[in-house]
Amino acid sequence: MIDVIVAGGGPTGLMLASELRLHGVRALVLEKDAEPTRIVRSLGLHARSIEVMDQRGLLERFLALGQQYPVGGFFAGISKPAPDRLDTAHPYVLGIPQTTTDRLLAEHAAELGAEIRRGCELVGLSQDDHGVTAELADGTQLRSRYLVGCDGGRSTVRELLGVGFPGEPARVETLLGEVEVDVPPETLAAVVAEVRKTHVRFGAVPLGDGVYRLVAPADGVAVDRTVPPTLEELRQRLRVFAGTDFGAHSPRWLSRFGDATRLAERYRTGRVLLAGDAAHIHPPTGGQGLNLGIQDAFNLGWKLAAEVGGWAPAGHRLGTGGAAGQLPHRTAPGGRRRAGQHPRADGAAVPRAGSQAVRRLVSDLMDFDDVNRYLIEKITAIGVRYDFGEGHELLGRRMRDVGLKRGRLYRLMHGGRGLLLDQTGRLSAAGWADQVVDVSEELDVPAVLLRPDGHVAWIGEDQQELLSQLPKWFGAAVS
Ligand SMILES: Cc1cc2nc3c(=O)[nH]c(=O)nc-3n(C[C@H](O)[C@H](O)[C@H](O)COP(=O)(O)OP(=O)(O)OC[C@H]3O[C@@H](n4cnc5c(N)ncnc54)[C@H](O)[C@@H]3O)c2cc1C
Repeated sequence: MIDVIVAGGGPTGLMLASELRLHGVRALVLEKDAEPTRIVRSLGLHARSIEVMDQRGLLERFLALGQQYPVGGFFAGISKPAPDRLDTAHPYVLGIPQTTTDRLLAEHAAELGAEIRRGCELVGLSQDDHGVTAELADGTQLRSRYLVGCDGGRSTVRELLGVGFPGEPARVETLLGEVEVDVPPETLAAVVAEVRKTHVRFGAVPLGDGVYRLVAPADGVAVDRTVPPTLEELRQRLRVFAGTDFGAHSPRWLSRFGDATRLAERYRTGRVLLAGDAAHIHPPTGGQGLNLGIQDAFNLGWKLAAEVGGWAPAGHRLGTGGAAGQLPHRTAPGGRRRAGQHPRADGAAVPRAGSQAVRRLVSDLMDFDDVNRYLIEKITAIGVRYDFGEGHELLGRRMRDVGLKRGRLYRLMHGGRGLLLDQTGRLSAAGWADQVVDVSEELDVPAVLLRPDGHVAWIGEDQQELLSQLPKWFGAAVS
């Protein structure tokens, strides 16, 4: 039997399949589209996602195809230089089109042995005590032990489970067109810069090959939001705001998007889980969705592998934590989440007079390094701290890359195993986690136990204490 069916071959599903494969779990990705999309949604990766790529040996591939921008992130779409002392080796945004990210993640998943079946749409599912039956559009039935819905914001899996998706509906609407233009790049840039002084949701981003992503506010324009916009509609909105439509033509993609914020009522129903956009959606302004999805998968992969492999410790809470820890909502018992508790980080991007004032204020405050750092740590997720109880300030946080005598820490994490970094030379995690006895000038604690997702599970120097922690994270020792 297949161990895990991953419904949806977007960034979340592909990352999850790779993480599962690192633990030998048989993973099958079902993707409804026969061919990879040419549509570019996300334009970049934040610091934590770049770290994740580094921890899995993908950094060079991503850096080779991306462009580094010296900004910390785009909190509420506000672009500021990266703050000083940002606790990461990657204090920049990596500009890289989602189509490239998707391709690199698909290659990685395939290299690790995940099967990716395209042109396969999941249309039904049922589950019992032993597994899940997935039904495809062509009538095929597949059986697996678990299934994860990584099938995007309009998730079929979520709907089939009857899991609610409460939150705040869209308040604004934006038209998007990936088009060619008839004006020189300088002219386009100058006009856009002028319009953006008063309308922050207006913009143009070059996507290469002469194609630009143009966006313009279109509040209340569409009578029926499910009807795709036309080129003329986009041109008309461009003229309203810029006085020109830049001669926009040859659309590659026309779309409209809102700023709805929603969170699934729960991430797990029996043997079926949700991750990525299927579990939470946010306005694209802060550039969070793809980053969160990748981090969800990074958090979920080893835990699900533990459950499949039978080494999950008692009380292991699959379907909790997740990158959604970035969102300041609380986890209720049983993996349910209280929805609608996270403030809209991009509220300041809404063009009302009050919001504009808040936006100016937040922008001014971000000139203070401490404020900038606080917000960027939140939006990039490098500030996420899981609650593992009282203790050292590193406890529960992901650890930054540090230099060791035998190389960089992140290089030692490519296999996705837990890791004991022991500077005392006296400790042992044999049977549970990989072990490195080494000294780092950058680390002022005797020993650190890292989970496969790089979060610090324990800090100390006492073997007995360590022995009490190891089963908590990694189940029984493997002889
Ligand atoms: C205009 C725009 C700009 C954005 N910019 C950014 C940004 O800068 N940074 C950022 O982090 N995020 C950004 N996002 C958000 C980002 O694109 C998404 O959050 C991200 O793609 C979510 O990944 P996912 O894998 O969870 O879902 P998706 O990428 O939606 O992938 C889901 C996959 O599941 C497949 N699928 C759906 N239903 C089924 C089914 N029944 N059976 C099988 N397969 C199915 C779909 O074909 C799709 O391939 C942007 C979004 C938009 C719209």
